[in-house]
Amino acid sequence: MKSSLCRRLLVSTRNAHKVGEIREILGSDFEVLDLSTLSGVGEVEETGITFEENATLKALAVSEHFGGWVIADDSGLEVDRLGGAPGVWSARFSGVGATDTSNRALLLEKLAGARGKERSARFRCVIVLARGGQKLAAFSGSIEGVIINQEKGAGGFGYDSLFVPEGHCETFAELGAEVKNTLSHRSRALEGLRSWSGWSA
Ligand code: IMP
Repeated sequence: MKSSLCRRLLVSTRNAHKVGEIREILGSDFEVLDLSTLSGVGEVEETGITFEENATLKALAVSEHFGGWVIADDSGLEVDRLGGAPGVWSARFSGVGATDTSNRALLLEKLAGARGKERSARFRCVIVLARGGQKLAAFSGSIEGVIINQEKGAGGFGYDSLFVPEGHCETFAELGAEVKNTLSHRSRALEGLRSWSGWSA
């Protein structure tokens, strides 16, 4: 049963992996809904050039249709050797019709021959909170790591099977949801949301 302090949050995404992680990370203090519960919201074009700009676009677009708390997650992978790419274009890295599989293949291709520190990278996540069509706050989180030279592990999504977080020897996909959700960029951003001073105002 949900506690009386439970807050209902609508997540502005159709990415089931993201919603699942957000739900697990926030636990029972929050009731996490996804866009399947709301009609009339079309695809939001991600025209921003920063994670916060895109998260803001997604949060405000849904906040116009839903009167309660809305959050949007914009996230991605920054690879130092690629000048921070794919960054905000992580989902669309391999172009029109991109899939997680084609994106990972392109990343491996671009890093062919790179060794050790040349494969350093980080995941970043920005969560924007909105209500009544207004942006209320933004929370960010990141996790450093390296891109290995072949996929390992079956869990997770996106680039998880190529990313080994600092201090670990296995990819996010091998470590599994329980470990990933204690140290990921998303869990760090959501920690900010959880402790937001506005909840008690
Ligand atoms: P967005 O929907 O524009 O925020 O795109 C996020 C993209 O970044 C995803 O499609 C993945 O490719 C990548 N990404 C973000 N977070 C993660 C993660 O936790 N694991 C693996 N890939 C991620």
